[in-house]
Amino acid sequence: THDIHVIGGGLAGSEAAWQLAEAGLKVRLSEMRGSGEGTPAHQTEGLAELVCSNSFRSDDAESNAVGLLHQELRTLGSLIMRQADIHRVPAGSALAVDRDNFSNSVTEAIDRHPNITLVRERVDALPDGPTIIATGPLTAASLAAGIGAETGREALAFFDALAPIVHRDSIDMDTAWFASRWDKGEGKDYINCPMDKDQYLAFHQGLVDGEKTPFKDWEKDTPYFDGCMPIEVMAERGVDTLRYGPMKPVGLDNPKTGRWPHAVVQLRQDNAQGTLWNIVGFQTKLKHADQVRLFRTIPGLENAEFARLGGLHRNTFIRSPELLDETLRLKSRPNIRFAGQITGCEGYIESCGIGMLAGLFAAAELTGKTLTPPPYATALGALLGHITGGAEAETYQPMNVNFGLFPPIPGRTKKTDRKRMYTDRGRAALAEWLNSPRQQPEPVDN
Ligand code: FAD
Repeated sequence: THDIHVIGGGLAGSEAAWQLAEAGLKVRLSEMRGSGEGTPAHQTEGLAELVCSNSFRSDDAESNAVGLLHQELRTLGSLIMRQADIHRVPAGSALAVDRDNFSNSVTEAIDRHPNITLVRERVDALPDGPTIIATGPLTAASLAAGIGAETGREALAFFDALAPIVHRDSIDMDTAWFASRWDKGEGKDYINCPMDKDQYLAFHQGLVDGEKTPFKDWEKDTPYFDGCMPIEVMAERGVDTLRYGPMKPVGLDNPKTGRWPHAVVQLRQDNAQGTLWNIVGFQTKLKHADQVRLFRTIPGLENAEFARLGGLHRNTFIRSPELLDETLRLKSRPNIRFAGQITGCEGYIESCGIGMLAGLFAAAELTGKTLTPPPYATALGALLGHITGGAEAETYQPMNVNFGLFPPIPGRTKKTDRKRMYTDRGRAALAEWLNSPRQQPEPVDN
């Protein structure tokens, strides 16, 4: 018998199970690896296996949103962060780990915890009791089908088609302008960047010539649809294909010339605060360095700062902003919470962070308490806010933690000062949250 069932022993599921167990609840943790099942990316049977890089990225809590997230997770007693710190390897200001020792010690800690029963099994249906689903980007097909049946198929994605996202304050609005096509609609919803013929031809050639990341073999088998065709594939189909697709200029009068440009790059608002804008239709397999170089040739984006670059990979995730409540419960079936990358966060440590929150919310609920979500000004709160409401549901795509998800800092400040202001404000907000009476868990001493 158990109080709660956690499905998936990755970064999120391991952290969630740990938080629940530490709160005194009996946890059944189901992990299919080790039962004869696998995923196309995992190589071992260890919990919290790092499938690719061995880095948790920046550990700088003064000027980096990921570093701030690390610090918050340490304060809250994260198992993943504790083991990462123990198995740290030199990597400058980044936190990188010895992947095998890290995963082995997470597995051992979970295995030894008296409140956790680790079961090597694949779960195929949504359970009726309290549950956290943390099955990750490569969720087994049977369970994905069950999730799709509950959420509606259109609310479950199998690919992330990532268009690059730009910080709004790095766009040159002397060149770009706000408008909707044919000036329709209430607002002037898009930011438009104009190109003349020479600029367009050079840009087109850059797409064709740029270095691309190849699809992995197992990604080739996943259904892949027209709606997320990479721009470079469109470019290869003909010099004008993009001008009839995402770079269509019709109906967009450039206020400088009173005419339609030869081609237009459009950006659409990506978060509620309006700090982040995505380049519409620009999902791409171009290597990151080539993306930065090429996209900065777009008039208006010469100094663009990217919150995320474009990409296209296999990734199972749900449309969380519409499906989940603010404590990560499935609105249509509140006994189920989601955690980790399947909620649409992106990255090892983000997955761990959302796993921690799902564990804390569930622990509070099962012990008859309530836990208010962490404030938006914290890294955890900003990430949670993005997942459960800040992002546009229709165009929802996975996202790393970054300052663009935080409430903006008012006024104009130097970039370096602003980063510091975000992290100082975040630390103060976390402290206030931890000291507030609605907050149950106590911070641990490190
Ligand atoms: P996972 O860590 O994948 O854990 C999910 C677990 O659930 C797995 O152990 C799986 O075996 C299990 N499972 C699945 N279905 C079932 C089922 N039905 N029943 C029981 N168990 C099940 N992020 C980075 O920060 N850096 C990177 O370098 C990086 N590289 C990536 C490379 C690839 C190929 C992929 C797919 C993702 C990568 N990510 C990377 C993104 C993401 O951070 C990781 O996928 C991360 O592991 C997600 O954590 P998670 O806990 O949500 O899922």
